[in-house]
Amino acid sequence: MVEIKRNPTRAVKIGSITIGAGHPIATQSMTATHTQDVEATLSQVEDLRNAGAGVVRIAVDSKKDAAALPAIRAGTTANLVIDLQENYRLALDVAPHVDKLRYNPGHLYHHEPTKPWQEKVRFIADVAAANDCALRVGVNCGSVDPAKKGQFAEDDSIGPMLASALEHCELLDSIGFVRYVVSLKDSDPRKVIDVNKRFAEARPDVPLHLGVTEAGMPPDGIIKTRIAFEQLISRGIGDTVRVSLTVPNSEKAQEIAAAEAILADIAAGRVRSVVDYGLASLNIISCPSCSRVENEAFIELAKQVKEMTAYAREHAITIAVMGCRVNGPGETDDADLGLWCGPTHVNLKRKSAELEAQERRARGLSLRRDPAEAPRGA
Ligand code: SF4
Repeated sequence: MVEIKRNPTRAVKIGSITIGAGHPIATQSMTATHTQDVEATLSQVEDLRNAGAGVVRIAVDSKKDAAALPAIRAGTTANLVIDLQENYRLALDVAPHVDKLRYNPGHLYHHEPTKPWQEKVRFIADVAAANDCALRVGVNCGSVDPAKKGQFAEDDSIGPMLASALEHCELLDSIGFVRYVVSLKDSDPRKVIDVNKRFAEARPDVPLHLGVTEAGMPPDGIIKTRIAFEQLISRGIGDTVRVSLTVPNSEKAQEIAAAEAILADIAAGRVRSVVDYGLASLNIISCPSCSRVENEAFIELAKQVKEMTAYAREHAITIAVMGCRVNGPGETDDADLGLWCGPTHVNLKRKSAELEAQERRARGLSLRRDPAEAPRGA
């Protein structure tokens, strides 16, 4: 076994487990069933709990989703966390039935746009405190707070994520709510490593939930995540983890098995040498799917995209395949080609020439393009 000195994070209780402060690193996953389908959701929650999940996340987007929670709560002893999206006020409906609430700072702007975000966070924290819930401040590369984005160069995706997370920690601390964890996720493991290292330097006391978002299908998705976890956990960073994989509903427990295997390998010193990931080869990212998927053919689509593009494996192209219209448009922004599913069709967009040129300039590359090539557009 390797002696890993963990960061001295605060203890955060989430239902029956505690993370941080040297407690074992807990694994997490998320249901991908329709939350209102209580039987299917409960069955998946139990699958994940039986596989060893310390926390199971469920998406709640509406009052109808929230209405399913009492029955789900009654049917499982799993520690449940709710993913709040735009409607932060749903916290009131869900908190009595769960152990933790996750909010995304970048989503607090859509609902009641004139109300300051600080008021909304105070509301969520008050509801969490009144219902014995922990919080997760979940910052995501594809949906960063627009106000923060404006303060950094367009090609700096780490700065806004970091600033947003730190600002929310400061506010929560200032109102005396310290029972929270932070996550900073990107689909690029190198960025996940960078942003989490920088956050941990600034706030070594705040527990971190690690994950590579839209990691894709196994085995690629597991490899990407392993790269990030090895670099972070071996430095003592990370108190809870999720391996996000694009797999059918019936195989969701693979996320827990993959996470446990990575954690066991790191603890035993079985750390692979880190490859220079994704710079010179085809990179397919796809979301792990969740209850927001509106078309069950999504998993098949992700598989077909992988098969269809195998001929381009030697090219540095990123293709993003997302399951819904909620996060699909934003999460595909950085990809060369982005696809996301609606109920009856798939949306496809191509990266704009301007964004591509900015990225190339940032990487010190010249933009060589056939002048006859048609202009690109989203
Ligand atoms: S992109 Fe949509 S369907 Fe996929 S995990 Fe994110 S919210 Fe769920």
